[in-house]
Amino acid sequence: MTSSPRLTIDIGKLKHNAQTITTRLAKRGISVTGVTKAILGTPSIATLFLDAGMNRLADSRIENIETMQTARVSAEMTLLRSPMLSQVKRVVHHCHTSCNTEISVIKELSVSAQREGRFHGVILMVELGDLREGIMPEDLLDTVKYTLNCPNITFKGIGTNLACRCGVVPDNQNMTRLSELAVSIEDALNIEVETVSGGNSANLKWALSDQKVGRINNLRLGESILLGCEPLHRQPIDGLHQNAFTLNTEVIEAKMKPSKPIGTIAQAAFGHPPSTTNRGTVAQAIVAIGQQDIDPFGLKPSAGIHVMGASSDHLILESNRNTLRVGDDVTFQLNYSALVRAMTSPYVSKIFR
Ligand SMILES: *Cc1c(COP(=O)(O)O)cnc(C)c1O
Repeated sequence: MTSSPRLTIDIGKLKHNAQTITTRLAKRGISVTGVTKAILGTPSIATLFLDAGMNRLADSRIENIETMQTARVSAEMTLLRSPMLSQVKRVVHHCHTSCNTEISVIKELSVSAQREGRFHGVILMVELGDLREGIMPEDLLDTVKYTLNCPNITFKGIGTNLACRCGVVPDNQNMTRLSELAVSIEDALNIEVETVSGGNSANLKWALSDQKVGRINNLRLGESILLGCEPLHRQPIDGLHQNAFTLNTEVIEAKMKPSKPIGTIAQAAFGHPPSTTNRGTVAQAIVAIGQQDIDPFGLKPSAGIHVMGASSDHLILESNRNTLRVGDDVTFQLNYSALVRAMTSPYVSKIFR
């Protein structure tokens, strides 16, 4: 029978989302690289990304790319996170391309690629204000020159990543800057910058507006396809499914309890507990899942049920009316942070529909 907790993944809805976004962006001259990290490189989802018209796949973790390679998912694979020096050999072996910001890493990629008798593509990531990975713009040209001189390394283009660390919004200003950098490389070195990758799901609003796209010809998309929403304000994207993933959990305790803890309060299992007000007696239920498997405040229960908190393996709910019973199934929608943890947890079974 059905196991609990379980994450149900609707392949049809994901395919619709992937096709819709890919088609909309194609009209703007922008290709889509499907990002598989939130789904751990699950081959069936990676395959539907390709069926939907994406020409490349990318992941931040070499393990996920190896999973897809082993399953014979046939696509160009890009490592999104700068390779660890300790993993350079694996990266050259399993990825066609990697995103890079450090000369010492590119040098080792070149050494490994020569040893393997392969060519490895390099996309140079540029810092445009979000202060995560990226080469400072004034150092970009020298890094391109260095890359072009590395044996068995192919310079594939440039990219940037915004919004992930500091929430910096992709806009005309930073996207124009990226286009200008591409043009300045071409003018200075008389080469073609093939890929200009503008960013992640946070770029969609800009990319689908009526602003000129300039030289931007690629986006790397994960969250928007999986959850059907844009990550800047977490608003639903028109025409996409927001419920391709559903989490089911099981009630293991249901009791009327005081809303206010009794006794002296210190730290709880996950730091300082939220302050509580006395709301009298409430209908409390515990479902068998916890911080180890999900982000409790990234779960959206159905109307009338509220998430109150969680320890490693207990999630506390309150319901407006005393309706939850032991053994009941409680359904949730998930945000990105709850989804990545549920996908990663070995305690949550994954059901494909
Ligand atoms: C995770 C990641 C992406 C995809 O981000 P989404 O918000 O899931 O679309 C793109 N680029 C880089 C460098 C990433 O690390």
